[in-house]
Amino acid sequence: MKKDTSIEIRWHGRGGQGAVTSAELIALAAIHEGKFAQAFPSFGPERRGAPVLAFNRIDAENPIRIRSGVVKPDIVVVLDPGLVTLINVTDGLKPGGCLVVNSTRSVEDLQQEFSGDWKLAVVDAASIARELLGVNIVNTTMVGAMVKAAEVVKFESLKAPLNERFGARASSNFEACMRAYNSTVISQITTTGTKKSKSFPMEKIPGWRELLVGCIVTEPGNTKKFGTGDWKSQHPVWDDKKCIKCGICSLFCPEGCIQPNEEGYYRANLFYCKGCGMCAHECWTQAIKMVEGT
Ligand code: SF4
Ligand code: SF4
Repeated sequence: MKKDTSIEIRWHGRGGQGAVTSAELIALAAIHEGKFAQAFPSFGPERRGAPVLAFNRIDAENPIRIRSGVVKPDIVVVLDPGLVTLINVTDGLKPGGCLVVNSTRSVEDLQQEFSGDWKLAVVDAASIARELLGVNIVNTTMVGAMVKAAEVVKFESLKAPLNERFGARASSNFEACMRAYNSTVISQITTTGTKKSKSFPMEKIPGWRELLVGCIVTEPGNTKKFGTGDWKSQHPVWDDKKCIKCGICSLFCPEGCIQPNEEGYYRANLFYCKGCGMCAHECWTQAIKMVEGT
């Protein structure tokens, strides 16, 4: 029987964070080393902020024939810290595997979220990306962290793919990648915590008869059903001095989660706000700013 020499990786991120780019960079680096590799994404029709998956398969010896998504990964990489408590990121992770997480929390603290026999690696990728790239896009930083933790390719092999992909921005991305590589903290011990679940306060969402403006609701209850507040990596903040209480933001919010408060100023219900930024884009007095965080 042929020896199984393949390594499977699953990337968890949100739309706009670069999980797909991360997988592509790793595949290109592996191919650069003469290995066989695949990279492919899995996402629905959702926009920026929605949870997305990307996958890699790398095999140093054999061509890869399988094309399905990775369900029993050797390595899991989590680009968005909020996903750790939102979905079961370690689902199917093989014993002896490796979990790499972007987080400001310590390895010791993060261990409490999990139970399993894996290596846990943690890096504050968001801070590195913001400092060196000016944006919270952690694709290249998480590639550096993953290579440090799991050694699936040599660090030097990332240079050519980064140059090819980022052109004039390659050197800052390489720097971010290297900073993450050097600052990733790895725990070799078995994690034994209990996964905690995240909860938001529930608030009343108006029915269509109570809405301020007329509209056609084809599927009432969609927003309630999906609790889309868990998707966001940024949220809207209102400046009441600039607000003229026109209600346009409320009209354009795809989740229908913006309502006036008692004083007539508008606010989003963060349990459902998915951080798409539509309200800030549509507000004609620039009374809404999108800020990082949930
Ligand atoms: S669109 Fe802007 S000005 Fe109008 S209610 Fe919303 S925040 Fe206020
Ligand atoms: S409140 Fe603003 S950012 Fe949140 S879902 Fe509605 S439009 Fe998008």
